[in-house]
Amino acid sequence: MESRFGHLAIEALFPRFCVSCKREGFLMCQTCLDYWTPVSPQASCAFCGERGSSWTCDTCRKDVYLDGLTPFVSYGNPLFRELLFSWKYHADSSVQEIFLRSLRRALPSFSFPVSFSCATYVPLHRSRERFRGFDQAFKVAQWAGELFDLPVETLAYRTQRTVAQARTKQEERHVGEMDHVFRLIDGIHVPEQILLCDDVFTSGSTMDAVARLLKQQGAKTVWGFVLAKGG
Ligand SMILES: [Zn+2]
Ligand SMILES: [Zn+2]
Repeated sequence: MESRFGHLAIEALFPRFCVSCKREGFLMCQTCLDYWTPVSPQASCAFCGERGSSWTCDTCRKDVYLDGLTPFVSYGNPLFRELLFSWKYHADSSVQEIFLRSLRRALPSFSFPVSFSCATYVPLHRSRERFRGFDQAFKVAQWAGELFDLPVETLAYRTQRTVAQARTKQEERHVGEMDHVFRLIDGIHVPEQILLCDDVFTSGSTMDAVARLLKQQGAKTVWGFVLAKGG
């Protein structure tokens, strides 16, 4: 836990500016916070980008397990990227309130083709979670749980560390390469309809590896929910 004094010292050394209007004081000022409603990306296949539906298209479906994806924003959104960066790499927890408020505001725009039994998430390796102090994918699952009224369950864990997603170029990774990275928790019951959460979707290899595990153990539908989709 960061002490109050530590927090004030950091504020003094590194004054914050609103990512939107650049006013000094907060990461996002009250005015901008009240109005930040990012445009949701157009419905498309998460893997190839084919427009028209959030379902994974028939062609991609031959190779992947994730049934579809609902992203909150596009990763190209510059405000979003600044916020995410502050959250992940500077552990700025004020970002969480900003995301949660804008997600609540966007709630009517989310629709899913099935009703889910639970929200779960793509887990971080424990060493990274300890280093960062939180698992951002778990946070997204908690928000999804609150927004869509779902229980949040931990179904899988990560067996090895991998290179941080944002630092690996999308074209250098491919679906299937992450399959050995995750395991399901021993003896866990896997529900049939699952909302799988993460912070950012890039190539989809990570999320798809977890979707595959879940489907091998009885899940019928695994649908992705992310703060942002890259590409
Ligand atoms: Zn502002
Ligand atoms: Zn596709």
